Amino acid sequence: MKLRSVRGTHDIFGENIRKNALIEKIVTRKAELNSFQKIETPIFEFSELFAKPLGEQSDVVLKEMYSFKDRNEEMLTLRPEYTTPMIRAAITNNLLNELPLKIFGLGAMFRRERPQKGRYRQFNQINFEIFGTNDFMADLELIVLGNDILKSILPNSKFILNLNTLGQKNNLKEYKNKLTNYFKDKKEKLSDESKEKILSNPLRILDSNNDKDIMISSNAPNIQEFISTEEKNHFLDIKKGLDFLKIKYVENNKLVRGLDYYCSTVFEFKTSELGSQNTLLGGGRYDGLIGVLGGPDIPGIGWAAGIERISMLMNSTNSNFTKVHLAISDKKYRSQIQNIMKYLRENNISFYWNYKYNLKKSLSKANFNKIEYVIIIGEDEFNNNFYSIRNLNTGKQSKLNENEIKKFLND
Ligand code: AMP
Repeated sequence: MKLRSVRGTHDIFGENIRKNALIEKIVTRKAELNSFQKIETPIFEFSELFAKPLGEQSDVVLKEMYSFKDRNEEMLTLRPEYTTPMIRAAITNNLLNELPLKIFGLGAMFRRERPQKGRYRQFNQINFEIFGTNDFMADLELIVLGNDILKSILPNSKFILNLNTLGQKNNLKEYKNKLTNYFKDKKEKLSDESKEKILSNPLRILDSNNDKDIMISSNAPNIQEFISTEEKNHFLDIKKGLDFLKIKYVENNKLVRGLDYYCSTVFEFKTSELGSQNTLLGGGRYDGLIGVLGGPDIPGIGWAAGIERISMLMNSTNSNFTKVHLAISDKKYRSQIQNIMKYLRENNISFYWNYKYNLKKSLSKANFNKIEYVIIIGEDEFNNNFYSIRNLNTGKQSKLNENEIKKFLND
């Protein structure tokens, strides 16, 4: 058998590991600053958790879930998204007694999509959710937080916030019926993929990238005509808030999002730097979903961002987290090596040694890796009980006692 990884999956190492660690650090700090609690849920759940809320006719449920029968005949699914597992966790752990609940998480999601740049079958998401309030201030807070996180991680990238409102569930239902009737009349002019969605999921025809669909959609009924005054005001308040905070956005009435549970506010941060998979972060309201899953009838809102897509836009990170290399000339000095390693460990100074008893080889490795300092132990150092420390940037070498090393490296 030829050794290979599964299509649509990838190993993360080197530079990408460092980028992911930085993303996690920034996200965690921002979450703390905004009082979101971290939550981790299992990678798999009972399949029935996803089918209804995501939509029996959504692409994810129809084609993309990794589901399998456990030995006891229970159907399990690798989580394709994080909102439903988070709600499940909030309900089963009684976290909804005190509202609002603000939670976040990072982790792997699984969807059997056609792999391409920025689209994988196993990928990592950042998720933020607020349960238990329909105040527009929560919508605003989450959008602002998304903007803040993206700006902090990608200071040199351009992305733009797209905003839309889908109205409440009853308005949306009426709108979907209107859309179905509209597209039915023009069925022959739609792409094959969109033809299949006329009855089941007409909203998705609106955000199709196919030129034929775009043409037909341009004259489709506009969602704004179906939205209540209350919803319009909710949306207006969010826009006023964004104006107040000087966060730019475009109103995009074709923005619908892929899953059935969305209603009211929906938003996406898009970039032109990634090709067709251009959404970095997307989310919206899902009032009603928590009730559908068996919890109290409280509203909710959240977003998810793709870590791989963010990472693709990041500048390279500084790879030198090692402060010193060791260079040893002879096996005789093994106890000195153990001593210096113990000292470095106890003082939280990062170090590396290549297990070679050869000064030249160790020094050239340190040079190659652009390391600043090398601690040298040779005959002179051994006989006279000191350490030589060479600064590879300046070439200057100093003789130090063990207890002087920390101060020297920190100065
Ligand atoms: P969604 O859950 O589909 O709203 O996606 C939220 C975000 O997750 C997207 O904006 C992407 O950044 C990321 N994402 C979704 N699907 C994939 C995928 N198949 N591969 C990589 N990233 C993805």
